[in-house]
Amino acid sequence: MENNINTFEKLLKECTTSGKKVYEIMQEKEASDFEITVEEVRNKVYKNITAMKSAILRGLSSKEKSYSGLCGDDCFKLKEKYNKKPALFGKLYEKITMYSLATMEENLRMNTIVACPTAGSCGIVPSVIIALSEEKKITQEEEINALITAGAIGYIISAKVAMAGAVAGCQAECGVASAMSAGAIVEILGGTSKQIINASTLALKNILGLTCDPVAGLVEIPCVKRNVFLAVHAITAAELALADIESKIPSDEVVDAMVQTGQLMSPLLKETSKGGLSATKSGILYNRKLMD
Ligand code: SF4
Repeated sequence: MENNINTFEKLLKECTTSGKKVYEIMQEKEASDFEITVEEVRNKVYKNITAMKSAILRGLSSKEKSYSGLCGDDCFKLKEKYNKKPALFGKLYEKITMYSLATMEENLRMNTIVACPTAGSCGIVPSVIIALSEEKKITQEEEINALITAGAIGYIISAKVAMAGAVAGCQAECGVASAMSAGAIVEILGGTSKQIINASTLALKNILGLTCDPVAGLVEIPCVKRNVFLAVHAITAAELALADIESKIPSDEVVDAMVQTGQLMSPLLKETSKGGLSATKSGILYNRKLMD
């Protein structure tokens, strides 16, 4: 096996020549890198899935606000809404939107979440994997395969750029999480490795330029609701990929474009809370109130 799998091209080539899926290649690589068994890798991944489920469960039953008082009860509101009026797009959509909010609200309450890839984007991957797991009744092994697939996508992107809003804007946090989720969805739905990579590429390509402008420097506005939007974004990418609608720009070039976009982005829009939403009249007011 090629040891230095740091591009999507290499990953796909490895899948094609070995006849293995993305998660198989990645779990073997992880086992080799850390000198542990594949079983140990999978056990570690399952611990994360368990933590994701716990965060969702806690988040669904809480409406405790964050320390700032700005966020914390949106999942509760959405749950109430769905109880009265189900979502137009069905149960899976309801779960994805609620689970992403539930997880992010647990993050702002400083409770345990799984950063995937970051704390600010922690609601996206768990919401799609756990909601799909429940609705499609997939096994524990399939959940693990999905999360390893998501991890593989994050790993490849992280070879070129740090996953941090301060480095490349929110495209490197929520954008990457959406790309990871798109791949995980395709894995769960039985797509090919090529479709998995293409799904992540389509997701990433369509969030290029997403800025990081957290109001008052807190991972709350716009981060909490952004997780919901980018979880749903992942579904669209997966559906297109499963129809073999391909990105005309190759996967690795899309990652390069993301890196370049991040470099071109003004520092005001990279987690400094000096531009974008943070610099709006209301954003400044929230900041002042919290400083008082
Ligand atoms: S806006 Fe910035 S802080 Fe918030 S999730 Fe995105 S990258 Fe993270």
